[in-house]
Amino acid sequence: MKDLIEEWKSKKDGAKINTKKKILSLANQKAKEINNKANQVHDEVFNQLDCLDCANCCKSIPPLLNDTDAKRIAKFLGIKLSRFKEEYITIDDDGDTVLNTVPCIFLEGDNKCKIYEVRPKACREYPHTDNNQFMRNIKLHMENISYCPAVYHIIQKLTDPSC
Ligand code: SF4
Ligand code: SF4
Repeated sequence: MKDLIEEWKSKKDGAKINTKKKILSLANQKAKEINNKANQVHDEVFNQLDCLDCANCCKSIPPLLNDTDAKRIAKFLGIKLSRFKEEYITIDDDGDTVLNTVPCIFLEGDNKCKIYEVRPKACREYPHTDNNQFMRNIKLHMENISYCPAVYHIIQKLTDPSC
């Protein structure tokens, strides 16, 4: 089986930029059709790679956090919400509430997540390529090609089925 993570790592920036251009070719197509295909291709790609061999999202992108996430995680950690907010949360340049460390403070040495059962919704849904969300998140995918091998390969398969 091809090592999709190593293949993504070996791609030069130029190849990743070309993939970003390819995604624009999808923007004019029927959203429902592309979303359906993306759901399928998402599963194919994630069946071929193991996030525990990667964890690049957890190492590179602070996840968004909503109030429900914060309450759930604080409870899991056994600390007050106010303390959790003080110690673990910040507001980023876009005004979004995010976890305050990169790599994520909850990422363990073996790439497992210390709070996996209660992780933020944004982590559970990353990279937002399935559940009929693909077309809604096209701009995000363009950024994520540089961070997530799965996104890179999903776009390749969607735009060139021979990949
Ligand atoms: S960056 Fe993508 S492939 Fe890597 S761990 Fe995150 S979701 Fe999985
Ligand atoms: S909370 Fe867990 S899944 Fe989310 S970024 Fe941190 S280590 Fe990764």
